[in-house]
Amino acid sequence: MKRILVISDVHSNLTALEAVLADAGKFDETWCLGDLVGYGPDPNECVARIQGLPNLTCLMGNHDLAALDSLSLEAFNMEARRSILWQRERLSAASLDFLKSLPGGGVERGKAFLAHGSPRDPIWEYVLNSQVARQCLQEVSSRWCLVGHSHFQATFQYLPDLDDIQIFVLQVGDRHQMTERAILNPGSVGQPRDRNPRAAYAFFYPGKGFWEPRRVAYDFGSVQRRIMAAGLPQRHADRLSGGI
Ligand code: ZN
Repeated sequence: MKRILVISDVHSNLTALEAVLADAGKFDETWCLGDLVGYGPDPNECVARIQGLPNLTCLMGNHDLAALDSLSLEAFNMEARRSILWQRERLSAASLDFLKSLPGGGVERGKAFLAHGSPRDPIWEYVLNSQVARQCLQEVSSRWCLVGHSHFQATFQYLPDLDDIQIFVLQVGDRHQMTERAILNPGSVGQPRDRNPRAAYAFFYPGKGFWEPRRVAYDFGSVQRRIMAAGLPQRHADRLSGGI
């Protein structure tokens, strides 16, 4: 059964990324839904590690776009802005080339549509409620839509009997069969915001339509120390312990 590793919002946190890859074991393909950089201390290391993952499809996120200097920083709060400027100074030519090569729109892979934010606004829109989820599913014909950006590990599932969309936080570690249309978010590897500090990711099994959300503990203390040593905003260190 083909197994696809789905990661998103790594945000320059190499320790979390390595923990995810160690926990994941073997997989056939990699889908990375964007925001490789921003916030954390290891931008080049994360870009290089992701670049080397097997059969990679990788999208551009809003922080990746901002690191390329191609959009105004106005859209970010002061602290996020500081870390973007910090990353701009440190990203190597090779990292920049890779980030530049990433698609800024959504891409289709089989019955799945992949976007960083949402299918109708792939870079910026957050899917956080059922109304937006419904509008987004209307936007594409693909059966499943995979998004990141919100840093919430959750699924928005269409329930045909009720003609409604419901948000589910599915049991971690179980394979859930996605029989109906759904928006699937693997959560964030490097900066979870769903009050669970463990790195979030998922497996997708496209043949059967299985979605398997996963979490793994990692040494966030070492990342917090690197964030502080780099002179990055303290808040980006603090939030890692609470997953907020
Ligand atoms: Zn992000």
